[in-house]
Amino acid sequence: MALETTPNHTQTVAGWAAHDSFGKIVPYIFKRRVNGVNDVSIKVMYCGICHTDLHFINNDWGITMYPVVPGHEITGVITKVGSNVKNFKIGDRVGVGCLAASCLECEFCKNSQENYCDQIQFTYNGIFWDGSITYGGYSDMLVADHRYVVHVPDNLPMDTAAPLLCAGVTVFTPMKDCQLLESPGKKVGVVGLGGLGHVAVKMAKAFGHNVTVISTSPSKENEAKQRLGADSFIVSTNDEQMQRGKRTLDVILDTVSAQHSLGPVLELLKVNGTLAVVGAPDRPMELPSFPLIFGKRSVKGSMTGSMKETQEMMDVCGKHNITCDVELIKPDQINQALDRLARNDVRYRFVIDIAGSSKL
Ligand code: NAP
Ligand code: ZN
Repeated sequence: MALETTPNHTQTVAGWAAHDSFGKIVPYIFKRRVNGVNDVSIKVMYCGICHTDLHFINNDWGITMYPVVPGHEITGVITKVGSNVKNFKIGDRVGVGCLAASCLECEFCKNSQENYCDQIQFTYNGIFWDGSITYGGYSDMLVADHRYVVHVPDNLPMDTAAPLLCAGVTVFTPMKDCQLLESPGKKVGVVGLGGLGHVAVKMAKAFGHNVTVISTSPSKENEAKQRLGADSFIVSTNDEQMQRGKRTLDVILDTVSAQHSLGPVLELLKVNGTLAVVGAPDRPMELPSFPLIFGKRSVKGSMTGSMKETQEMMDVCGKHNITCDVELIKPDQINQALDRLARNDVRYRFVIDIAGSSKL
């Protein structure tokens, strides 16, 4: 087991942590490393609450190292730069997502796909090279290796841009992989209208596609169409609507956080269509063979994005003015927000106002 602190971890930081799977998020004082030659220090302004945070807090996946300081949708301002850092300066508006370190040597790291490095370490609940456990963005400052930091475009507000660092890039990369950036006019489905799903709808519309939301929540239909721009809305528990939707979509993104069968979703794809799964339920999902083989359909996964893709996504969002619909909360409302997220009661992302400041 790695050490929780190492000799150069001398900076005292105030944050919020869960200490066990039944507990609540409480204030937590801990140490971070001093700013190294490759590091930047960041004053955290905002941090989104991703459903992954909830999975980790509850130890849904059985891999949580407590105390866990969650948070990987971070925006903030640079306060210090190491001597090797050339692309950031003090005062820069930056973002940090899921990635904290990778081996930098394997084929994936060398080809800007370090999110698939088998030694990847995450912004929280990871083990950094010095043996310390990483702590995330539910904290007032962060020390990050500059290779895992991106610039936030000037026109994007720091609060509504924060969820782009995970939710945004996680839906951007499978869209890019399925050629949705360069070939408009496709029929795209988004299953689950939550944090990831609502950004997926906005991006797919900005890229010129016809978008269908597949949801368990009939109450989201009006907003999906009027606010987010979706063209159609299918209630997944409505058999008639699901029947009518059969063989209509080219690509579907599944962002659902809970266990469900992929069979009915696959039926909505045209022959040769692709289902990209990004949701990460704690139990295996059912994958029946008939809808797979009768439609020659493919199912694939996607794990966040590389740093190059993350910067590309931020720039694309800057260009199209894509931001997230957020409910801004104070740190003492985190537990209430997590309860509401667990009940699927958020439109569409909670963002913690860490610095307690007004917009930059
Ligand atoms: P979220 O905001 O809670 O959204 C999930 C949506 O799934 C809900 O809004 C709901 O949409 C739908 N849903 C919830 N319970 C359901 C159920 N029992 N049956 C069917 N649909 C249900 O969560 P999120 O932050 O977008 O994250 C979604 C998932 O992606 C999580 O598992 C998270 O860990 C994972 N994730 C993966 C990556 C990656 O790299 N692959 C990155 C980030 C997050 P409707 O109300 O519309 O049905
Ligand atoms: Zn996330």
